[in-house]
Amino acid sequence: MNPDSPDRDPSDSVEVSPPHDVETVFVVWLRCEGEDCTIQKPLFAQWSATTTEAERRADIATWRWENLRCPAGHAILRQGDYQI
Ligand SMILES: [Zn+2]
Repeated sequence: MNPDSPDRDPSDSVEVSPPHDVETVFVVWLRCEGEDCTIQKPLFAQWSATTTEAERRADIATWRWENLRCPAGHAILRQGDYQI
């Protein structure tokens, strides 16, 4: 795609498409430290449709929650009851 490349052919094209087997999955309603916070915080993840629940749980275990905040600035609490 380098326009200065000697191999460049103006008739070439690149087509980018998302992986076709990815699905968007609702994971959990997030809770934050704001006891009166009413901001709804659904968490979705995208995985290949062929991943198992165990693989998804293993992936979730790698997620980092430390600096996650709701729009009001409250810290998001690490969740444990996933609906995957
Ligand atoms: Zn909040």
